Amino acid sequence: MFLQGQKVGKYEIIRSLGSGGFGSVYLAKDTWLDIKVAIKVPHKQSAELYKLLKEPRLQAALNHPNIVRMIGAEKENKVFFMVMEYVKGRTLEKILDKEKILDCELAVDYTKQIAQGVDHAHKNKIIHRDLRPSNIIISEDGTAKITDFGTSAWLSNIPYASTRIGSPPYMAPEQFLGRASYQSDIYSLGCIFYEMIVGRPPIFDADPFKILEKAQQGKITPPRLRNTKISREIDEIIMKCLASKVEERYQKPSELIRAIST
Ligand code: ADP
Ligand code: MG
Repeated sequence: MFLQGQKVGKYEIIRSLGSGGFGSVYLAKDTWLDIKVAIKVPHKQSAELYKLLKEPRLQAALNHPNIVRMIGAEKENKVFFMVMEYVKGRTLEKILDKEKILDCELAVDYTKQIAQGVDHAHKNKIIHRDLRPSNIIISEDGTAKITDFGTSAWLSNIPYASTRIGSPPYMAPEQFLGRASYQSDIYSLGCIFYEMIVGRPPIFDADPFKILEKAQQGKITPPRLRNTKISREIDEIIMKCLASKVEERYQKPSELIRAIST
């Protein structure tokens, strides 16, 4: 953990920006370049270097306006940390906590932007696997940026990545079974879109096994039944993202972008 005012190499810690299950993120000043950056310090420092480098390597391989740019990874006084572009704004989670629900047009705009970032990641053979509102930052100018590639994986040779990590309410049924694929990210995108216009994710249960059961059986209330302002077209697009069968979803983010753009 870093403290306000602390000097870490050439960086000066300004304040905390947030914290998740895997790391603490700070606003810092790069005193050499005289720019603000975001520094993420993984909670688990004991892991081997190659394991700690997985997240920044994946994120550094990507370069897109809708993905938070990874600038570097460093070690100072035995503390490993990542250096990222600082995004001035709020996470989608914070926005939803306050606003509860967003206008359809704004939700469509954010979904499109997030899908564009996901499309770029997929084209580089990277699946995110943990798309959810706390991993999306909306900058002050309204740009949606995906962050937190701590759960991500390269999908170069095998058709799916086998682990069981992610956040249950946003996880596709196959992801619970360790078979996350590109289309699992599309499912998570559908969950985020749903939450933005309904006020809660499609399946809401404290018990992850119940979430899996409902997701597998496709027991999802169409968003239009929860919010009558939602058009039939948007309702169908979201339900297609949330199909329990992988092959019934959009196969690529670009297909989803095309559908919501018409
Ligand atoms: P974890 O892997 O522990 O979930 P995250 O990478 O999601 O950590 O970061 C935790 C929080 O820190 C985010 O929810 C967000 O509030 C904040 N944060 C992360 N990266 C940035 C950034 N580049 N700019 C501004 N805030 C950030
Ligand atoms: Mg996170």
